[in-house]
Amino acid sequence: MEKDRIVEQIKDIVLYKTGKTIDEVSPQAKYEASSIMIMDDIKEDWAKTTKKNKDRRNAYYFSAEFLIGRSFGNNILNYGLNHEAEGVAEELGISLSALEEMEEDPALGNGGLGRLAACFMESAATENLPLQGYGVRYSQGLFKQYFNQGFQMEEGDDWTALGDPWSLRKQAETKIVNFKDQKVLAVPYDTPVIGYRNKNINTLRLWQAEAINGFDFSKFNNSLYDDSMSTKNRAEDITRVLYPNDSQKAGKILRLKQQYFFVSASIQDIVSKYKQHFPLDIKFKDFSKYHIFQLNDTHPVMAIPELMRLLLDENFLSWEEAWKITKKVFAFTNHTILQEAMEKWSEDIVETVNPRCFEIIKEIDRRFIAELKESKYTNEKIEELRIVSKGTVRMANLAIRTSIKVNGVAELHTEILKKDTLKDWYELYPSKFLNKTNGITPRRWLVYSNKELSNYITELLGSDDWILDLSKLKELEKYLDDETVLKRINEIKYNNKVRLAKYIKENEGVDIDPNSIFDIQVKRLHEYKRQLLNALHIVYLYNKIKSNPEIDIVPRTFIFGGKAAPGYFRAKSIIKFINEIAKLVNNDPIVSKKIKVVFVENFRVSYGEKIYPAADVSEQISTAGKEASGTGNMKFMLNGALTLGTYDGANIEIFKEAGEDSNFVFGATVEELKEIESTYDPEQLYLNDEVIKETVDILKSDIINDNGSYMFLEIYNSLIANKNEKPDAYFVLKDFHSYVKAHEKIDKEYRDSLSWARKSLKNIANAGKFSSDRTIKEYANEIWDI
Ligand SMILES: *Cc1c(COP(=O)(O)O)cnc(C)c1O
Repeated sequence: MEKDRIVEQIKDIVLYKTGKTIDEVSPQAKYEASSIMIMDDIKEDWAKTTKKNKDRRNAYYFSAEFLIGRSFGNNILNYGLNHEAEGVAEELGISLSALEEMEEDPALGNGGLGRLAACFMESAATENLPLQGYGVRYSQGLFKQYFNQGFQMEEGDDWTALGDPWSLRKQAETKIVNFKDQKVLAVPYDTPVIGYRNKNINTLRLWQAEAINGFDFSKFNNSLYDDSMSTKNRAEDITRVLYPNDSQKAGKILRLKQQYFFVSASIQDIVSKYKQHFPLDIKFKDFSKYHIFQLNDTHPVMAIPELMRLLLDENFLSWEEAWKITKKVFAFTNHTILQEAMEKWSEDIVETVNPRCFEIIKEIDRRFIAELKESKYTNEKIEELRIVSKGTVRMANLAIRTSIKVNGVAELHTEILKKDTLKDWYELYPSKFLNKTNGITPRRWLVYSNKELSNYITELLGSDDWILDLSKLKELEKYLDDETVLKRINEIKYNNKVRLAKYIKENEGVDIDPNSIFDIQVKRLHEYKRQLLNALHIVYLYNKIKSNPEIDIVPRTFIFGGKAAPGYFRAKSIIKFINEIAKLVNNDPIVSKKIKVVFVENFRVSYGEKIYPAADVSEQISTAGKEASGTGNMKFMLNGALTLGTYDGANIEIFKEAGEDSNFVFGATVEELKEIESTYDPEQLYLNDEVIKETVDILKSDIINDNGSYMFLEIYNSLIANKNEKPDAYFVLKDFHSYVKAHEKIDKEYRDSLSWARKSLKNIANAGKFSSDRTIKEYANEIWDI
């Protein structure tokens, strides 16, 4: 029997690894052995896929982040071992969920951009598309977040401390990366990306930096113990953390070194494999037939000069030959219109990282300008488009100049790029621009993380075909008026809320009531995402309940999660603010009967898997025009939450698919904000509006306490009295009343539970568009030609 075979194999691995029998070892050892068993089981299919892909055109996803989440449960599901899994775990003397909880989330990403890369990898494997991922194996990841007196604290995340059974170290394929002042080893670790039930297994290759000769024996011998290890430490620093603090020059150099490190290793790897496979093509005539590199934002853009360098200096092609190839093999995804996120590096930093690549970038720029001059471009326009200008290298310009295609990540975002952010580029290269609305994989974000709903959908549709064709969910619309179905939808939601409440009690120590509305905002902390608007609305409710304790409102639980960048003071202030509101509200005997607030620590993929399925309301409240797409919004929708959102990013497409009357739309549009932008005066708004004044004034009161950090005064000033920058740059006060009204509508509509369930089902039924299977097929057909 399959189950017995698996159990025997795991026992064997336990014995080999620990010298003990299964009943003597820890849950961790059982998890590790079970994972190794799966890696052993898949090895032939993995090798077969790798071999097959050698002979065809492949796409390569270059990304500084891959937020893959835990592998164990998802691999069991995708490889089709889930029918045996419970029984196997039982034989091992442990529950399946206890085994799953042993796995650390690989902390290899920050937020949506990294999670998108992970969803794309899974969808490509499922769709039998040859897509390989290339990135960085950060030894300490981003950071682990915890709270001390409500302040965010950070610590290193040593996610491989207990091993990493899901990767194979491929020592023999090590590369050397050269910087101006340093030479390091790039050692690849390969992780399988398993397609859903199709035995197709692609590869995610992550590079780790190591010293070539890390230990100085003679220094050690002379008692210089620290010095003897410094070469090793300097090398390993390169892949220690994601987004090292770049407020100082040393940090900037480290960031760019990190970027160059992984793209240099990746391009070297791909070029050397090509030469092995096609030893006769010394002019690389067919290279562009076999390769297309997708640049996930500007972080991997150094791949462009690196490919040129390899073709020119190590393979002796002429500039024209090398450029012809390079111009055919890159495509670029833009992820933001926020100026601070458009990478620009000062010339001396690029030169310090790799002088030859800097020279190549300057030559690309020189030839580009000559071309523009020839087509009668004005100096002013040329200045906008230049790659090297005013002492800086603009990575987005280098990417757009070189790429065959440039894409935004939602319809609105792509339109803003064309009309505004990248207007001059769009005029120059109109046919390069296209939209690829983001998506999420339904395997992880529904089948795995919401089994009860997933099974029910299969029961209703009479087949599980929808897992591979999410547009089939549309057929659920025939149940929109079926009371039995609607009641069951509510019951499933309730069960997920009970599970989340239990988990939050265990992990945060807060009691929450599954009968209350679960109103959730989980995402990175950023002013444009407007967690502050959400917080001020809670203050508004608090004041209302205080002045009228008998007020009739449906009990509500506000749940927050998300990390602030360690150097982003105001975002950290907002976390402290929300934690203080939580303390105030939850400790008030009257208010806490109606509302509760909890900010969960260290939000990450595995926490999300418990949160998204339990939401009634999905908070997607960014300032219109600022959220490129969002993908959290799609996860909530697929799990039956109603969106409370602005006309921004993919929210617009969600409203279009599911209908505005199944969601709660509020706030100013991009056009409206543009119109008022120059005259917007939040101070007048504050002075003339009693409700806003009373709400915002909590920041200056002694009802809440920022422990002398002046954080709350700083938030206040940012809204009302900012001297150095525009006050309320994200229009929190502008949208406040519209937001309050939308919340009142939620309160009213939640009372009719069948009508609410109908809207929930309407959202689920219309979430098909947001499968990353759809997105990845569009990339494959319209950009990659694979
Ligand atoms: C989906 C996801 C995100 C992205 O959320 P947005 O709401 O789109 O910003 C961030 N972090 C994690 C862990 C996620 O799973």
